[in-house]
Amino acid sequence: MIRIGQGYDVHRLVEGRELWICGIKLEHTHGLLGHSDADVAIHALCDAILGSLSLKDIGYHFPDTDPKFKGADSKRLLAEVCRMVRERGWEIGNTDITIMAEAPKFKPHIDEMRMKLAEVMNVDVDVVSVKATTTEGLGFTGRREGIAASAVALVYRDA
Ligand code: MG
Repeated sequence: MIRIGQGYDVHRLVEGRELWICGIKLEHTHGLLGHSDADVAIHALCDAILGSLSLKDIGYHFPDTDPKFKGADSKRLLAEVCRMVRERGWEIGNTDITIMAEAPKFKPHIDEMRMKLAEVMNVDVDVVSVKATTTEGLGFTGRREGIAASAVALVYRDA
C-alpha cells in the first residue's frame, strides 16, 4: 500500500538570523525568522510526511507556543516525524522538495542537503530530492522578503 502527502511553508527573511535550510547552515546576509531554527524546507517536508498518513501538521505536534521548541533544530522534528511513520508500520518511499528563493545560490549545496536529510531520516540518499528555483523576481520570494518551500512525500507498507 502507498500513500502520498504534500507540505508547504514560508518564513520571513530578516537580518541577524542564521539561514538554515534542509538541515544545513548557509552563508547569507539574512536568515529566516521563526520560533525554531525556521528551516522552511524541513517544515514543508515534515508536513508532507505527516500529511501522507493524515497525521495533521508540525504546528500540531510541535507547537510554537511551547518553550521546548524555541530555537529547536528542525532536524529533531524531522527525525521524530519519521519515527511516528515507522511506529505505524510505514516506511518513507521517496520525498521531493522545492525551495523558492531569489538568493542565496543553492546549487552548490543541493547534494549536501540531500545527504543531511537522508541521514536524519535514515533512508538512502536517492530517496531524497532537493530542488531550488527563483521566482524570477516576482512576489515575496522574488523581493527577498521570505523563502517558501513545498514538498511531497510517498510512504509505503507491505500490506
Ligand atoms: Mg515553518
